[in-house]
Amino acid sequence: MQALLDEILDAVRPLIGQGQVAQYIPALAEVNPCQLGIAALSVEGELFTAGDAYTPFSIQSISKVFSLVQAIQHQGEAIWQRLGHEPSGQAFNSMAQLEYEQGRPRNPFINAGALVVCDINHSRYAAPTLSMRDFVRRLTGNTQLMCDEKVAESEYQHRARNAAMAYLMQSFGNFENDVESVLRSYFHHCALAASCVDLARGFSFLAHQGVCLHSHERILSLRQTQQVNAIMATSGLYDEAGNFAYRVGLPGKSGVGGGIVAIVPGRFSLCVWSPELNHSGNSLVGMAVLEQLSERIGWSVFAPA
Ligand code: GLU
Repeated sequence: MQALLDEILDAVRPLIGQGQVAQYIPALAEVNPCQLGIAALSVEGELFTAGDAYTPFSIQSISKVFSLVQAIQHQGEAIWQRLGHEPSGQAFNSMAQLEYEQGRPRNPFINAGALVVCDINHSRYAAPTLSMRDFVRRLTGNTQLMCDEKVAESEYQHRARNAAMAYLMQSFGNFENDVESVLRSYFHHCALAASCVDLARGFSFLAHQGVCLHSHERILSLRQTQQVNAIMATSGLYDEAGNFAYRVGLPGKSGVGGGIVAIVPGRFSLCVWSPELNHSGNSLVGMAVLEQLSERIGWSVFAPA
């Protein structure tokens, strides 16, 4: 495995330069595009790393999985009264469906859905931002894990579109808390800084029957674990989830910071990071790494054998 990771990273490095780092806030636009790392954690606890696996980056939309898990822990099936689990086929920040579907977002991994999930968590926690940070610290085992306040503030200053979605949902009666405070926590979740190693560890429960590998804490039931993996497989890569299923064949979740988490159920949790994005907002090199790795090992959950 170690030799394979090194080999694949060398093979894909020439692709750096073909994508573009996220431009919508200055804090992300300034990131060095040449960074590339991967971490793979087996359910037996063996960790393999290559490249910049220990460098923290902005987890962005990967945080939407942590938020969803918190909401499921709190309300279980009841959350689906407020949003769906269907792929949207639209960009992550699209508002088009929200209007004609009466403020009910398609799934928890587009921005509108993540905002509703954040609103659900707001109704539960007195300090939603800190509770999320502490949850992620517990799952990753990294007690130093921090939010990048500069990124969070910059996102808040550029919040027009996310704010528009949240207020639209409020107008349909699908929002319980103060919109501006929910937006603030949402941006703080997106601005958490974690490394590939942190995230491979943080998502071990999705590969390991719902139980966190290092703390042995049960995070979700078996059925809930399977359901979260299913939503990742169908909606985890923006409007490119079909292409990811075709090329990689694993439940995954990407973020505009260039991270992609992937789960090999019963075997591995992985995270790859390379900041340059393709036209769908997914890490261009990260996709190539996961495609090669999955193909070489035969990891696709759609494989016939
Ligand atoms: N903070 C970003 C936004 O809400 C998240 C984008 C992403 O990673 O999909 O626009």
